[in-house]
Amino acid sequence: CGIVGYIGHRDAYPIIVKGLQRLEYRGYDSAGVAIFDGNEINLAKTKGKVEDLKKKAESSISVGGNLGIGHTRWATHGVPNDVNSHPHYSNSGNLVIIHNGIIENYESVKKELTKRGYIFHSDTDTEVLVNLIEEVQKTEDVKLGKAVQIALNQVVGAYAIAVFDKRKPDEIVVAKLGSPLAIGVGENEFFIASDASPFIEFTNNAVYLEDEEMAIIRLGKEIKLRKIKDDAIA
Ligand code: GLU
Repeated sequence: CGIVGYIGHRDAYPIIVKGLQRLEYRGYDSAGVAIFDGNEINLAKTKGKVEDLKKKAESSISVGGNLGIGHTRWATHGVPNDVNSHPHYSNSGNLVIIHNGIIENYESVKKELTKRGYIFHSDTDTEVLVNLIEEVQKTEDVKLGKAVQIALNQVVGAYAIAVFDKRKPDEIVVAKLGSPLAIGVGENEFFIASDASPFIEFTNNAVYLEDEEMAIIRLGKEIKLRKIKDDAIA
């Protein structure tokens, strides 16, 4: 299981695919990628190898864009198949997430969200989390970073996540508890990965998130590091 993300001036897709290949040693059963093309999120995912993902993505979606996230999945909730593979959209289609780890209380959260009208397409705990973030965004009328923080305070489990909102494509929010997450800082560009190997050729400036830490990564800004349990978040 692995995570790769990019925001900056380069084409995100080749960096993400190459990065996922470097993380293959971690083990996985499926792979996926979501690229923002300046207008829409284009998403491809499949059971199988990163090589299979490449074929699928390059023949089915437009892979151009400077913002994207990619994932290799090691299934914990829901069998390995195309639908359960990450990334996962929220119901509105505005948010997209990748997640390594487990959300232990996903069933009770899912029940609550279902009552509120949410629909789930996969069997994953991850799709529950992205919709919880969306619900918080809506009901609390907060920015993505705050919504992620509030949502993470309502779940029990382990995670490395990366999420972005297509209405705010200059930002990626990441968080870590249990699973590893590194941020590569370049010149007006950022890389995200489970370890530094996907971005070592671009920058040697790496920030490793601590457990219970999150980061709001915004183009043109310094990374904002926050404690997930701290409620002072802008
Ligand atoms: N629990 C998530 C799932 O089963 C993520 C698994 C992983 O770490 O790749 O989809």
